[in-house]
Amino acid sequence: MNVTTLPKPPRVGLVSLGCPKNLVDSERIMTKLRSEGYAMSPDYAGADVVLVNTCGFLDSAKEESLEAIGEAIAENGRVVVTGCMGKEAEAIRARFPQVLAISGAHQYEEVVAAVHEAAPPIPSPFIDLVPEAGLKLTPRHYSYLKISEGCNHRCAFCIIPSIRGDLVSRRPDAILREAEKLVAAGTKELLVISQDTSAYGVDIRNEVRQWKSRDVRPHMTDLARELGMLKTPEGETPWIRLHYVYPYPHVDQVIPLMAEGLVLPYLDIPFQHASPKVLRAMRRPANDAKVLERIRGWRVIAPDIIIRSTFVVGFPGETEEDFQYLLDWLEQAQLDRVGAFRFEPVEGAAANALPDPVPEAVKEERYARVMQLTARISAEKLAAKVGSTLDVLIDAVDGDTGGATGRSKADAPEIDGEVHLRDAGGLKPGDIVAVRIEESDEHDLYGVPL
Ligand code: SF4
Repeated sequence: MNVTTLPKPPRVGLVSLGCPKNLVDSERIMTKLRSEGYAMSPDYAGADVVLVNTCGFLDSAKEESLEAIGEAIAENGRVVVTGCMGKEAEAIRARFPQVLAISGAHQYEEVVAAVHEAAPPIPSPFIDLVPEAGLKLTPRHYSYLKISEGCNHRCAFCIIPSIRGDLVSRRPDAILREAEKLVAAGTKELLVISQDTSAYGVDIRNEVRQWKSRDVRPHMTDLARELGMLKTPEGETPWIRLHYVYPYPHVDQVIPLMAEGLVLPYLDIPFQHASPKVLRAMRRPANDAKVLERIRGWRVIAPDIIIRSTFVVGFPGETEEDFQYLLDWLEQAQLDRVGAFRFEPVEGAAANALPDPVPEAVKEERYARVMQLTARISAEKLAAKVGSTLDVLIDAVDGDTGGATGRSKADAPEIDGEVHLRDAGGLKPGDIVAVRIEESDEHDLYGVPL
């Protein structure tokens, strides 16, 4: 009988100092490491690396932390330091230059990355709960990549900042490492998400990191370029799709990356309205009166660019004139994909206290008008694609009919249209195929693989 011998897991020793909050941090770090197959070591001698979670509240606590680091170095030698004293990395390095890595409180990703480096995890399909690419709720061929949490804005209709707090960006090398793993595990399309993708990195703007021996700033442009340089196991560039991009001036720098083929020519910009008066009342960020001009400029650089957006109708105080302004703006902007919502008060949102609520019947009527206009624009744009050849990523195949459903570069999963294929036998989800487009309707395309 053949018996598979499981690999011996790397062992981590832990010294946790300070208050209960620090203890909770230690628990979170160890939970993550345990889920990756690490074992705990009860003593210095048996540990492959020792983690010292420090306290820096009082001078006496700092001294105790330094003593603990010194003891771990003397007893084991391979030491990673984290916790509140991480703010004083220079003082620690001055006394213990051999420390492998130092990070501050709550910097879970940094600590875990430092442990990975000091004692690499050994993946094993027999014991890992989490596959190498992490747990996914999406099909294998596309994955969401979250780059930050929270938001610095305070839009009047939104309660996200009060629930999730201000923007906290992930470090760029950690995002790129996750993206690289996902692509190695079969992801063909990465969907970059956050509450405000253009604001990525403003909270950690000086924290330049190394990735593949290159400096990467925590900035949307650097991140997008590096994501576009990843390669699938077949040597192809994965599709990189940017969601929730606010039109800050620096977004203009991403458009050339689309023209170069590093990032999909697709921008999801939640404009929410066009009337300057309504946008002010909504307290929307990047409320730029020249946005139409900029969209024209983007289309010159990347002619295939697809712009998707969402709009709210019936916001308190929206007059017929404001709404007509939105319709005129949409006619000029010729956006490719549009979703619309009727304003709804959400418990805790500042907008609830605004005067002049719009009656429900008027909201309904405006919603119908905006949908009618944007469906017409979408149908015209899709009709112009009939006769062309597009790359399509297959999402599902239908064995009974021999057909398949997929998406072109213009279509994000779940929210945009689809491409329906006939005579698609032999294809499987995750394939990217050239498709000749034969027909169109308001939202979808129909074609045949070449
Ligand atoms: S709607 Fe406004 S406040 Fe809410 S997450 Fe988006 S930008 Fe932030």
